Amino acid sequence: RMYRIRLMAVRHSRTFEWIYARLENALVRLHPLFVRIGYDRLERPFALAERGVKGLLFDCRMCGQCVLSSTGMCCPMNCPKQLRNGPCGGVRPGGFCEVRPDMRCVWVLAWDGASRMRGGERINNVLPPVDRRLQGSSAWLRASRERAHQDDLSPERERAALAQAFPAARKTEPASAPLASEPRKARH
Ligand code: SF4
Repeated sequence: RMYRIRLMAVRHSRTFEWIYARLENALVRLHPLFVRIGYDRLERPFALAERGVKGLLFDCRMCGQCVLSSTGMCCPMNCPKQLRNGPCGGVRPGGFCEVRPDMRCVWVLAWDGASRMRGGERINNVLPPVDRRLQGSSAWLRASRERAHQDDLSPERERAALAQAFPAARKTEPASAPLASEPRKARH
């Protein structure tokens, strides 16, 4: 069932792209409130909500650095090789995965989804490797913090190396090459 919903999300990638852009704008507007409450206190409830919603819609694995809008609304963490750029050379005839032949290749779906999106050309940008330290954290909160911090980067020097290494990813998908400082790790 989850797999069918994931395929549906890719088919309607343009709608989800639109919803996602609205959600992100709403979260960025809430940044001052989030600062007052404290991002570290919000981390756990946000991560829980995100896991529920995105788990259902996209089979989200909570990598914490969401790139859905660069991958046709098809979560690349469902690729058995967890490639952040794809597809690999092993796609079977009909666009099936070489590791899991019963599953369509995540990256074939991603290119299909991207072809329907307004910002679909983002898929051409090379994405940085997954930062495993962010696993389990809320990408929604991170995206809001990232956008809100874009004008105020001075205290964020330590994260600049990653962002500088992947300027294109930084530009189109800031949360995948984070600059804003991370809140304390939430206990699960
Ligand atoms: S890219 Fe990461 S945060 Fe986004 S849906 Fe996939 S696992 Fe979840």
